[in-house]
Amino acid sequence: MTDRKAQLTANLAKVEERIAAACTAAGRKREEVTLIVVTKTYPASDVRILSELGVRHVAENRDQDAAPKAAECSDLPLLWHFVGQLQTNKVRSVVGYANFVQSVDRSRLVAALSKEAVRAEREVGCLIQVALDAQESGRGERGGVGVGGVEELADLVARAPGLRLDGLMTVAPLTGEYAGRQQQAFERLMDLSTALRRTHPAANMVSAGMSSDLEQAVAAGATHVRVGTAVLGVRPGLG
Ligand SMILES: *Cc1c(COP(=O)(O)O)cnc(C)c1O
Repeated sequence: MTDRKAQLTANLAKVEERIAAACTAAGRKREEVTLIVVTKTYPASDVRILSELGVRHVAENRDQDAAPKAAECSDLPLLWHFVGQLQTNKVRSVVGYANFVQSVDRSRLVAALSKEAVRAEREVGCLIQVALDAQESGRGERGGVGVGGVEELADLVARAPGLRLDGLMTVAPLTGEYAGRQQQAFERLMDLSTALRRTHPAANMVSAGMSSDLEQAVAAGATHVRVGTAVLGVRPGLG
């Protein structure tokens, strides 16, 4: 086994242990939570190792890095999640490899995704990114739509050809009333998900929690956690 493979094996085992412990603490079944490994800034060779180790969901946040990586790994049985702020001029490329776009936060993006999904004859699973630090239906600092804009955007996705409304995503806010209160933030997302599922019962994905707060996300009821650093190591520079 290479050093890198040994390292990723050990890190994955630790993360798996944390998720299992969090599920036990919350009285949830381990199968209720899906691990998505965020591979941004790390090479395709790491993605290949992760796939060998049984990882099935990977996430990226920049199309420039993700597109070539996904192409290099197209022989692997992976599902790709796009989790970064998405410019409409990158949508055609992203739709080429992404099974899920978790950062849907405005109507123009919905229109662009729908158009490209239809063109590519693909179905793209969409999660509305909720900015819990934004004013009502405004947008968040790091993308996302305010709480007041979620329903309208969800309805738009649900009606859009080529798109499937799968649920909600959030990143714990660094500012505002939820700063430093991850669990409360994730519980708020869960409440929004409950409300959404009244009109869209199949939209049951709740994506929340990263390396530092996956326990709080599992406790709140998240179905998907997005873990980068704890599996791959601290990213050099921004990412
Ligand atoms: C980078 C990133 C993650 C993973 O963060 P870590 O702290 O490295 O686990 C999760 N979600 C999004 C949207 C990200 O951009």
